[in-house]
Amino acid sequence: MHHYRKNCIVMSKTYNLWTAGCQMNVDDSQRVGSELEKLGYIYSDSYREADVVVVNTCVVRQSAEDKATGFLWTLKPYKENNPNKVIALMGCMVGVKGGKKLVKTFPHVDVFMSPSETAPLVDFLISRDEEKAALEERYKLQDEELSFVLPRHQQNNLVATYVTIIRGCSHVCSYCIIPSRRGIEHSRPVGEIVGEIRSMVAQGVKEVTLLGQIVDRYGYDVPAGPCLPDLLRVINDIEGLARIRFLTSHPNYMTDDLLDAMVELPKVCEHVEVPNQAGDDEVLFNMKREYNITEYANLIKRIRARMPKVSIATDIIVGFPGETEAQFQRTLGTLAQLKLDVCHVAMYSPRPGTVSAKILPDDVSADEKKRRLQAVNDLQEQIVTEINASLLGEMVEVLVEEKQKGRWRGRTRTNKLVFFEDDSQDWRGKLAQVEVTWTGPWSLRGTLPGQQPLNMSHESMILPLIH
Ligand code: SAH
Repeated sequence: MHHYRKNCIVMSKTYNLWTAGCQMNVDDSQRVGSELEKLGYIYSDSYREADVVVVNTCVVRQSAEDKATGFLWTLKPYKENNPNKVIALMGCMVGVKGGKKLVKTFPHVDVFMSPSETAPLVDFLISRDEEKAALEERYKLQDEELSFVLPRHQQNNLVATYVTIIRGCSHVCSYCIIPSRRGIEHSRPVGEIVGEIRSMVAQGVKEVTLLGQIVDRYGYDVPAGPCLPDLLRVINDIEGLARIRFLTSHPNYMTDDLLDAMVELPKVCEHVEVPNQAGDDEVLFNMKREYNITEYANLIKRIRARMPKVSIATDIIVGFPGETEAQFQRTLGTLAQLKLDVCHVAMYSPRPGTVSAKILPDDVSADEKKRRLQAVNDLQEQIVTEINASLLGEMVEVLVEEKQKGRWRGRTRTNKLVFFEDDSQDWRGKLAQVEVTWTGPWSLRGTLPGQQPLNMSHESMILPLIH
């Protein structure tokens, strides 16, 4: 890749990002991308060719860790063929302690970075550059101008993005490895967050999702500091920003103040992600979630009383140590009763160092875990099919993110995916009022008022073929 500067062609160096895991990792990768752009690097979608490859890892389940390890081995021959290629390993595999053991296992990795950390790679790249001083100068200038630089190919192109507001986690759910890898809870200052969002909005972003492992604990670690409702009020005032979301919530911290702020602030969307994890009190106790199922159900009632059209997402773990068939049935019963919009379900995976891995045998077989996972998914598909069908004929507000196969693709305030057709204008980044003409479990289709519904040839493009 090259661009022209002062009559000469400057070959730009390139970087590639490989990202696994949660939204926070997506944000962390974007943060690395931002820093590399300040150094003049340009994004490449080829890890084979890129000068710098960042591998941002997740270890929340064994399968995620295996994926990262596999990719690191894939990179090895590329590094051997081109010793100048820089490989940076970051994220929860490295953890806050720096992952010292990994240095021996992966000798082809140049830089190791804890979650959310970017400085080691920036320093490494500056220190080995032939024009060290000039590069450092350019970096500083960019950094003063914009606190957050979107990759060039995403400027005025990226509609919705993430901003981490609270790093780490100080809770100890018995199954979860995240607190030990991301460190203790640490809220970012309001000014820093707002500055970053303003930068993003100046580069075309219209929607931000504020992130935290327990996002509603924002500010709890700062005595007399602002809390999430206060932060939402400040962000709501940012001109040019259309929508605000936040995740992940913990049932014990979704206060009335927070729910009131959601109702009061026009930009905050009616969507919450509040994991339940299990529908049985004994399992919840062993998970150290610190609520019972009655309390969870009451919370859902409280949320719905304030926001009747709210959409709610949950996480469920199946096959937690000791989970009996009867206990699992109670999880299904809870889901059937509460009828939530989204359920992310995972099979329990014992993680090193966690309380459950230390003291509870992983005694539900892999086949049984798979069966339970499938049962949750089947039930959830029925539930969401029914919920979405109730939206037929309604007008919904869609923030349009991109054009995909000739159709505009965006999301409602409740985070439902909507497709519609229109050739009259460029809808990207704009709010469209769309009438829902078709609903399915994973998406909706609609038309702008006064238009005909999508024709059959488009339907057949996305409906799976039935053999
Ligand atoms: N801090 C957030 C997200 C944690 S990770 C929260 O507390 O909800 C995202 C999800 O992964 C969790 O909600 C949980 O459902 C799942 N998860 C975490 N640890 C797991 C494990 N050891 N095995 C299986 N699923 C796990």
